[in-house]
Amino acid sequence: MVARKSVAVIGGGVSGLAAAKAFKEKGHLVSGFERSDDFGGVWEPSRSYPDVQTQSPKELYCYTDHPMPADYPEWPKGPQVHAYLHSYAKKHGLEDLFSLNTTIRSMTRRSDGRDGWTLQIEDGTDKRSEDFDFVAVCTGQFSEKNVLTHPGQDGYLEAGGQVMHSSDYTDPSMVKDKRVVVLGFSKSATDIAVNAVKSGASDVTIVYREPVWRVPYFVGGINFKHLLYMRAQEIQFNGWGGSPLGKLAFALFKPMIWANFRGLETLLKLQLGLARHNMVPKIPIEKDVSCSIPIVTPGFFEGLRAGTIRPVQGTIERYDSNGPVLTNGETVKADMVVLAVGWKLGVPFLDESYRDRLIEADGQYRTYRLIANPDLPDMGFVGFNSSFCTVLSAEIGANWLVRYADGMLANQPTPDAMRENMEVMLRWRREERPAAQVYGGLCSAPFHFRHFDELLADIGATKTSHSNPLKEMFSYPDATAYGTYLASAPDYRAT
Ligand SMILES: Cc1cc2nc3c(=O)[nH]c(=O)nc-3n(C[C@H](O)[C@H](O)[C@H](O)COP(=O)(O)OP(=O)(O)OC[C@H]3O[C@@H](n4cnc5c(N)ncnc54)[C@H](O)[C@@H]3O)c2cc1C
Repeated sequence: MVARKSVAVIGGGVSGLAAAKAFKEKGHLVSGFERSDDFGGVWEPSRSYPDVQTQSPKELYCYTDHPMPADYPEWPKGPQVHAYLHSYAKKHGLEDLFSLNTTIRSMTRRSDGRDGWTLQIEDGTDKRSEDFDFVAVCTGQFSEKNVLTHPGQDGYLEAGGQVMHSSDYTDPSMVKDKRVVVLGFSKSATDIAVNAVKSGASDVTIVYREPVWRVPYFVGGINFKHLLYMRAQEIQFNGWGGSPLGKLAFALFKPMIWANFRGLETLLKLQLGLARHNMVPKIPIEKDVSCSIPIVTPGFFEGLRAGTIRPVQGTIERYDSNGPVLTNGETVKADMVVLAVGWKLGVPFLDESYRDRLIEADGQYRTYRLIANPDLPDMGFVGFNSSFCTVLSAEIGANWLVRYADGMLANQPTPDAMRENMEVMLRWRREERPAAQVYGGLCSAPFHFRHFDELLADIGATKTSHSNPLKEMFSYPDATAYGTYLASAPDYRAT
C-alpha cells in the first residue's frame, strides 16, 4: 500500500502543472506555489518579450492528453501558449491547488524528525512555514535573471541611456526612434533585434561573441520536425553508455554520419548565407546540438542582408556616456542596451548543504535521469530534463517522479545505482559530449527518444514505441502516443 503524501510543487509553469497533475492523479495532497500572479512561467505575459513564439512545433509542445487547438499556428505565439497552459490547468482542476503570489524562500529538512521538508513560504507580507512529505521543484532554468554590469554603466545611465535584461523588453513602443544595442546571440537576442527593427528603432546593432549553428523553421523547404526529431537522426549523435556492439556500429557508420552532418551544414550555410555574414560556426554541428541551439528568428538574416540589423563580433567592455564600448574598440552610440544574456541556474531556496550535494564545482548537476538525487531525499525535479519538446519531457518526468517518490517504479533504483549512473553521466558530459553541459547538464536534447525510453522502462510501461519500426525510426515524438505508453504501466493509488 502506498501512503498518501503531502506534496509541495514549487513553480506554476509547464512543469509545475505537469507535476501537480501527476501527484494529484495518484491520490496525493498537492499544494502548489507560484511566486508570480499567474500560471505560465516563461510564457506569462509580463515576462515575455513581444512576438515571442515557440521554437518547437505545436505537436511537440503539448501534454499527452491535451493537444494545442487546431487553429493555432505551427509555432504558437506566447499568449497562445499561455492560454493553452491555462486550459490544461482548468481541464485537470489544477488551478485551485496553487497559491499564486507566493514565493518559497527556503527549504530545510523537517525538524520533527519525520521525512520531508519544511518550506518557508512568503505570501505578500505574510511569512509562514509548512511541512511536506515530498517536494517537486519545478522552477525551471529561466527564473533568476543573469544581471551583467560593466564599468561606466552608471555614467551611461546618468547621461540618459537605458540598460535592461531581455525579459524586461516587454513593450515594443519603448524602442521607437531609439538606437538599440542587443548583447547576445541566443533566440531571445535575435527575436528582440528583429522586433526592435519592426517597432521603429532607428538603429539596431547585435553584439555577439561567436557564431552558433541555428536551425530555420524550414530547412531546404522541409519543416525541421521531419528532419531533426527522429530516432534515425538521434542515434547519429554520440550518446552515453551504449553496448560494445552499439559502439562498433557507431564506428562503422561514422563516415556516413559525417557526410550527413556536412550535408546539413552546407544546406544551412547556403540557405542562411552564413559565409556572407562571417557567421559560419567553427564547431561541427553534430557536436553542438543541445538545448541551447536556437531556431532562426524569421526576419533576422533578412535584416542582416538589408542592413537594418548590424552584427558586430565581440562583447561590451565598458560604457562611456554615448553607449557601450566594445572589445574591438568601437563605441556604439545607443539610447538603449538590451542584455539578452540569459538566466542564472539554481535552486536558491534549497538549504546550502543540500545544494552542495546537487551542484558540482563546475556547475554540473548531479541528477539521476535528470530528475532525482539519492542524497536529496524526499524531493525531485520536474522540467530539469529540458529538451526540444519540454512539455512532454516534463510530463513524462513528473510521472517518473511520483512513482519514484512512492517506491513504485518498476526499476526502483538503489541509491548506489543512482550514484554510479550519475558519475557515468557526468563523465560523458565532461569528456565525450561537452555540448551536453549546457544549463548545468540539465538538457536531454537531442536524445529525446533515448531519455524517454529510459523513463518508460523505469516506470514499467509495457508499450513504449510505435508498432511499425520504420515509423518509429523516422517520426517525431508523438505526445498522444506517449500518453498511451504511460497508461500501459501498472496503475496504483495512494491512500
Ligand atoms: C522565450 C522562450 C521560448 C521557449 N520555447 C521553447 C520551445 O519552443 N520548446 C521547448 O521545449 N522549450 C522552450 N523554452 C524553454 C521553456 O523554458 C520550457 O519549455 C518550459 O516553459 C519551462 O517550464 P518550467 O515550468 O520548467 O519553468 P518556468 O516556465 O521557468 O516556470 C517556473 C516557475 O517557477 C516559479 N518560481 C521560481 N522560483 C520560485 C519560488 N522560489 N517560489 C515560487 N515560485 C517560483 C516562476 O515564477 C515560474 O513561474 C522556451 C523558453 C523561453 C524563455
